[in-house]
Amino acid sequence: QAQKQGLNNYHFYSANLNSSLQERLALENELYHALDRDEFLLHYQPQVSLHSGRIIGVETLLRWQNPARGLVSPAKFIPIAEETGLIVPIGEWVLRTACTQSLAWQAQGFSALKIAVNLSARQFKQQNLVETVTQVLNATGLDPHYLELELTESLMIDNIQQSINIMRQLHNMGIVLSVDDFGTGYSSLNYLKRFPIHTLKIDQSFVHDLVVDSDDAAIVDAIISLAHSLNLNVIAEGVESQEQLNYLQNKGCDEIQGYYFSRPLPANTLTQLLEEGKTLSNINPLCIT
Ligand code: C2E
Ligand code: MG
Ligand code: MG
Ligand code: MG
Repeated sequence: QAQKQGLNNYHFYSANLNSSLQERLALENELYHALDRDEFLLHYQPQVSLHSGRIIGVETLLRWQNPARGLVSPAKFIPIAEETGLIVPIGEWVLRTACTQSLAWQAQGFSALKIAVNLSARQFKQQNLVETVTQVLNATGLDPHYLELELTESLMIDNIQQSINIMRQLHNMGIVLSVDDFGTGYSSLNYLKRFPIHTLKIDQSFVHDLVVDSDDAAIVDAIISLAHSLNLNVIAEGVESQEQLNYLQNKGCDEIQGYYFSRPLPANTLTQLLEEGKTLSNINPLCIT
């Protein structure tokens, strides 16, 4: 009896597995054609200084507009792009498009705006990463000082010496490096000081319950202190409320990014924000430095 049930279960799971595998293969297949079919677009989310209240940068976030599925979330397709290696050409497209957009904003007079681009582990491990980035910068004409590349801790510590080498080359070109989702990976303070990084991005999971969870608040405090004692800039991701903002500002966090100020937006909508000169209101003047 039990065996029979087990067998049924096996069939049940196997059918399920097949359909999710088929779904995954279909998605993968469509992803293969997405670049050629021009289905990707970029959204940009403002990063705001807590010292001046001004927009000082934007993070580039990839979107996939699939004709049948609609807008597919990066959480769903980035892992597939990563496993298949498709992230390499897609990532190059992101970099080129973001640099071109950045230059356009500069030409419109928003001259101090930096542009952040996410780099995946697979891209980072490409032998010719530095060459590719150099080519894109040359082709677009963007000053490397305006380009920020976001890396994750796990990517950096995978092969520390090699990571340091690549990061030094990028840093020496003038590119700004930041650590994304900081606090969620394996972080060793010893390594941290050896990497040529400029900014720590506090992961949004710590920011989310900041006001109600004293553990999260303690982690956020610690990251801000750590960043500042290492002379690093610190930005909080996923800021959605005035309470979170106040907390971060009181703790001396340098910048924020999140729905509270703005969701990620298409380029033309972001241009409007820049033209309006939108700033973070309710900034406590005592905290402006
Ligand atoms: P990330 O780099 O940590 O990006 C921040 C994510 O938080 C974005 O999700 C953004 O839309 C979301 N977010 C921003 N503010 C808030 C907020 O106030 N509340 C909440 N709940 N969420 C907020 P998104 O756009 O879905 O991207 C997810 C992840 O996909 C990114 O996390 C990044 O790891 C990856 N990704 C996105 N674009 C690219 C890309 O061009 N290349 C690579 N390699 N990865 C990318
Ligand atoms: Mg990021
Ligand atoms: Mg993040
Ligand atoms: Mg992330």
